[in-house]
Amino acid sequence: MDTHQIMSLPVLRIGVTGLNGRMGQMLALSIASSSEAILAGGTSRSPTGNSSCPCFQSIDELAAVSDLIIDFTHVSTVINHARTLEKAGKAWVLGTTGLSEREQAAVNQAATHIPVVQAANFSPGVTLALSLAKKMGAALPASLYDAEIVEMHHRQKVDAPSGTALAIGEAVAEGRGVRLSDVRESGRDGHTGPRGDNAIGFAALRGGQIVGEHTLLFTSGTEQISLTHKAFDRRIFADGAVRAALWLREQPAGLYGMEDVLGL
Ligand code: NAD
Repeated sequence: MDTHQIMSLPVLRIGVTGLNGRMGQMLALSIASSSEAILAGGTSRSPTGNSSCPCFQSIDELAAVSDLIIDFTHVSTVINHARTLEKAGKAWVLGTTGLSEREQAAVNQAATHIPVVQAANFSPGVTLALSLAKKMGAALPASLYDAEIVEMHHRQKVDAPSGTALAIGEAVAEGRGVRLSDVRESGRDGHTGPRGDNAIGFAALRGGQIVGEHTLLFTSGTEQISLTHKAFDRRIFADGAVRAALWLREQPAGLYGMEDVLGL
């Protein structure tokens, strides 16, 4: 056996749930541009969409032809997907957001038997920003620095602040050793009084088709430092998920985050 045979891994057969969704279509593009993976198939609730690969009605059928599943669908699928993939022994990259405690418990249970990467944001830039935000929170205490987070998204977005803005706030709070729910200040309007001494503030802007912009600011009486991330294209989440999939194939069972994929 030569060195090449020892080093190279077989091409990863990736199954994509919700192949016709916004993220499903992006994932098909990201997989097509990887030399280490192929699209094994997808699940779809509608007959139209990507006709160049097999579409299955159920995740059981998809799991049978895949080495790993990338899943950006809807919270209502999570418990079934967790049980099915645990039983099939197939690795799982999970991007679906908004899980309840019960759904998260099903993911945690599956991860005792299969490798799982779960992240609310698969962008490497945001993952790094979260790590930096925690360090900034620890180094720049609330007694000296006011922490504020500004986010801007497309006009169709229905929730505010964004999940990523809240994750940045959680990271700052963790760095400061407090709970975000105890210090969060958002939606200031009218006669609000001065900001709370220990507050972590949020402001949300909406307009056009902006994919996602987040800025974290720390302001004291004598200086200001800001950290900004801008996503230009949803493709960044799909590329991050494929990167996570390629990393995951060499990992034992367990629950991992995007920070593990990046080695942070
Ligand atoms: P979308 O509505 O465009 O697509 C969802 C897909 O899931 C569709 O193909 C739909 O048919 C399928 N689906 C929905 N309910 C289903 C069910 N019960 N059974 C089987 N299939 C079902 O949504 P989207 O923009 O692609 O986002 C999907 C999910 O990914 C959301 O939870 C979103 O918040 C999340 N998301 C996460 C990240 C990240 O980086 N983690 C990035 C973008 C989106």
